[in-house]
Amino acid sequence: MNADRESLLAITRKLSVLGLNRGTSGNASMRVEGGFLITPSGMAVEHMSPEDLVRMDAEGVPQSAGKPSSEWRFHKDIYQSRPEINAVIHTHSPFATSMACLRREIPPFHYMIAVAGGDTIRCAPYALFGSQALSDAALQALQGRYACLLANHGMIAAGGTLQKAFDVAVEVESLCEQYWRALQVGEPCILSTQEMTEVFEQFRGYGNWATSPVRKA
Ligand SMILES: [Zn+2]
Repeated sequence: MNADRESLLAITRKLSVLGLNRGTSGNASMRVEGGFLITPSGMAVEHMSPEDLVRMDAEGVPQSAGKPSSEWRFHKDIYQSRPEINAVIHTHSPFATSMACLRREIPPFHYMIAVAGGDTIRCAPYALFGSQALSDAALQALQGRYACLLANHGMIAAGGTLQKAFDVAVEVESLCEQYWRALQVGEPCILSTQEMTEVFEQFRGYGNWATSPVRKA
């Protein structure tokens, strides 16, 4: 358990160093025996120690001291409904959040969109932070995917391991930046379904990104 706490804190620090999360925004969790471990509510990462991470059971009831992130519901619901996912990262990173505020789905303008598990990154409809409605909307947007945007809020990235979830989060933020930049100049060209199918075939050859997922339409 201590090693889990150290790894989750290390990933949370990396998100902050890369500017994906600032101050107390965003959160991260990992699946552990009987539940999950999640970052605490309202605490900046520079003040966080391994003991501050909150152990939750599978139903979302805290099993250790401290207050879990206010977004614990979607972490719990993702672990309950997606057995292949073992880590979840939530950010308010600048470019993903900008696109989420435009409520824009990210189309296949770049082949790396495949790392999110499909040929789009969906944007879940707006719902209040911390609410069950937000969790329901997120789960729907994550169907067959390892990332989604949350309207007027931020992004969720997930993976089979903490490192994979982190890699997906970093890539999604980069994709949102690239899409945003391309939109400044004109309308980006979109890859066809056939072209994206070829990307998925190629990715399979490398072993896959988020969990080794096989593409689900
Ligand atoms: Zn949030």
